[in-house]
Amino acid sequence: MGIGKKLSRRFAAFGAAVLAGMAAVPLSATSAAAVGAPVCLSGNLLYDYQSADAGTSKPTMTKPVRSANVELWGNEKPTDSPHRLTADFQYTAGDGGFKLCHTPTTTSMSSMWVRFNAESTKLWRVNDTRGATYTLDSQTLHNVSSSASLGVIKPSSDTARAWHAFDTVNLLWWNRDNPASICWSSHETDGNHCTELNIQWTDTSTDGPYYDIGSHTIHLSAADPDSEHTVLHESGHFFMNRLFNGFPSYTICTSQYIYNRAGSGTCAWVEGFADAVAAYLLGDYRYVWPNGTEMSFAYSSGWSTGDQVEGNVTGSLLDLWRNVDGGNWNRTITLLTSTAPSTFSEYFNTDRPKAGPPLSTGWDALSYLRSHSIQY
Ligand SMILES: [Zn+2]
Repeated sequence: MGIGKKLSRRFAAFGAAVLAGMAAVPLSATSAAAVGAPVCLSGNLLYDYQSADAGTSKPTMTKPVRSANVELWGNEKPTDSPHRLTADFQYTAGDGGFKLCHTPTTTSMSSMWVRFNAESTKLWRVNDTRGATYTLDSQTLHNVSSSASLGVIKPSSDTARAWHAFDTVNLLWWNRDNPASICWSSHETDGNHCTELNIQWTDTSTDGPYYDIGSHTIHLSAADPDSEHTVLHESGHFFMNRLFNGFPSYTICTSQYIYNRAGSGTCAWVEGFADAVAAYLLGDYRYVWPNGTEMSFAYSSGWSTGDQVEGNVTGSLLDLWRNVDGGNWNRTITLLTSTAPSTFSEYFNTDRPKAGPPLSTGWDALSYLRSHSIQY
C-alpha cells in the first residue's frame, strides 16, 4: 500500500489496447429504417470478476461498467473509412446501458460498432504499461438498416480486471463531495482541466499496489483489482493529494504497510486515511487483500496503542465520520481542502476545532478515539 516517489517501469509493455474476446450476444432488430432516420445500437456493458471482498473463495460476480466513455464507430459507404460517428463522449449508465445513434444519409450503414473506453473523460482511466487506455469493441454489424440491440457485452477474462478497477473508482468520484466542479477537489474549478487519476494494470503485472504521487498513477499487480478495498485505498492516496492540492513531501510514507504496529505519525495518518477511504466507501470496517483475507479495524489485543498506529487512525476516522460528524465524511472533506494536516493528531486537535462550525473534539469524539487506544 506504499506510496512511491518514482515511477517504476520494471515491466515491458504488454498486450494491445484494443481488446477482443466478446461474449456471444443475440442480435435483434428493433425498428424499421427510413432515410433520415437514426440508426441506434444499444445494450449493456457488464463484467465478471473474482470478488476478494466476498471472501477467500473469491466467488465470481457480475457488475455493470458505469460511467465509461462509449463511442459509436462505423462507415456509411463501403468505400468510406470507418470513423467515430458520435461527436462527443457519452457514458455508460448505472446499469452499464448505452444507446448510441447515427443518422445516415442513405437507408443503411455499411458497418457499425460500439467502442468502450476504460476512461471517464479526463477524470480517471485504466491503462497498460505503454500508457494506452484499455478499450473494448463490440462485434461489428454490417449493412445496418435498422436499430439493433447488442445485448450484454462483457470484456474477456484476461482484461476484465481493468474494467473492475475502472468501475470501482466510481465510488470515490460519486462521494468526493466537491460542489465546485466535476474535478476531484474544489481546488480545481475548470472541468476541462481536472487532474486525472491514472491506474496502470496488466494481467501479468507484479508492479503494485502503490500510488505514485508525481504522475498521479496507481500501479496495480495482476490480481489487485479483485479487492475493491485495495483499489480504493490507493485511490484514497490520490484523493488526499487532490484535497491537499499537493502531497506534502514530509508525509511520503515508504515503510512497510503495518496496520496494527506503531510506525510514525505521518505514516499512520497517510495510510490510515487511505484505509478509511476504502472502508467508508464500501460501507464496512475492514481492509481486504486481493487474496480475500481481511482484517477489522476494531482495536484488539496485541495491537500497539496510540495515533502512530495505522489501524487506530483508520478506526477513529471511520467512527468520527459515521457516529460524530453527521454520518458521513463531508465535513472532513471540506476541512482537508483548506488544511493539510500531516498527522492524525494535527487533524483532530488542531484542525477539527477550526472547521466552521467546529467539528467535535469533545467527550463523544474522544470516547471513540479511546476505543482505538488513542488518548487525547
Ligand atoms: Zn497506502
